Amino acid sequence: MNCMSDESQKAFVDHVRGVFGEGFIPLHRPVFEGNERQYLVDCIDSNFVSSVGAKVTEFEQQVATFTGARFAIATVNGTAALHVALQLAGVGRGDEVISQALTFIATCNALSYAGAHPVFVDVDRDTMGMSPVALRAFLTANAEIRDGAAWNKATGRRIAACVPMHTFGLPCRIEEIAAICLEWGVALVEDAAESLGSYVGARHTGTFGQFGTLSFNGNKIITTGGGGMIITNDEVLAKRAKHITTTAKIPHPYEFVHDEVGYNYRLPNLNAALGCAQMERLPWMLDVKRDVAERYRAFFASVGIPFAAPVAGCVGNHWLNAIVLADKSERDAFLAYTNERGVMTRPIWRLMTELEMFKHCQHDGLPNSRWLEERVVNVPSSVPEHAFKAANG
Ligand SMILES: *Cc1c(COP(=O)(O)O)cnc(C)c1O
Repeated sequence: MNCMSDESQKAFVDHVRGVFGEGFIPLHRPVFEGNERQYLVDCIDSNFVSSVGAKVTEFEQQVATFTGARFAIATVNGTAALHVALQLAGVGRGDEVISQALTFIATCNALSYAGAHPVFVDVDRDTMGMSPVALRAFLTANAEIRDGAAWNKATGRRIAACVPMHTFGLPCRIEEIAAICLEWGVALVEDAAESLGSYVGARHTGTFGQFGTLSFNGNKIITTGGGGMIITNDEVLAKRAKHITTTAKIPHPYEFVHDEVGYNYRLPNLNAALGCAQMERLPWMLDVKRDVAERYRAFFASVGIPFAAPVAGCVGNHWLNAIVLADKSERDAFLAYTNERGVMTRPIWRLMTELEMFKHCQHDGLPNSRWLEERVVNVPSSVPEHAFKAANG
């Protein structure tokens, strides 16, 4: 049965128009209403537009301060940040990494660049992120500890790391996951690409393991055009991260000496300039987005549709709001109805295990991931135009 009435669909479009206005309503669009233009011009005037410049350091410091991480290392995008974080967490060719099948492709691409074989455990329905219960069950059933490391008994491979992801800015149960990783000798790297501004208790997501990684792609909560960040509390790892993301060059006034194979993964100063201006506006954006989410919560409650919210003790950034529809046919009807009317909505990702490259990877059956895959839809979540007009007087 189709539980979502035509009336509810129409009421949804009216609600979105009430919040965001007329015309095409995208899922998420960037806001450049602060010092973006000024900092870009400063950057061009200074001639430092590329791989060297003060804005990179300034942006890194802003992100470190905001997240409470001791160190932040800017990278060219979030995928590169995750690639390097995995390598520095000790993931090598032929290792296994446990992740979630319900994620954006970048997570698994980075795992692959690091030479790892992904294995997938299920997510929780409420957080849409890795389930600690599923993680423990997988390790208990499939792994043994030898010499302080976890080994997959079936494949004979070392399980080097675990990469949970905070879906749409909803924090996953990262404290439980961190405890399990510690118990099993598995490095924890958080894909926090979607969760800048999301907290578990008072602690920012991405700061629970060896590394967290962020993304500043154009559709993320703040953007640098393209960009990413590695965050860590470990000074030695932070230095290593800076070194190998900047071609592993030994500082010298004129000689080119590189002491290992590094990457050209540094963030250009131009992009960092955008990032500095965006960071200044982040607290305000988070406030406005909380308000947009609150209005959605009230609306969806009134029509009886489950609206995704952070679990108790967590604060979300409301990057992308999401609803959980009754079944696939209701979802498809909703997607068609809204997109035909200029209100962009989008289903959650296909599971990684359905993609050609990852369909042979080991997994635990993924019941919740499959359930969510058929039902979750993202709804428009930008900062509304009237909000930044008001903010700019
Ligand atoms: C955006 C994103 C990334 C990183 O993406 P880039 O486009 O490379 O910055 C990684 N993981 C997830 C889950 C993401 O949503």
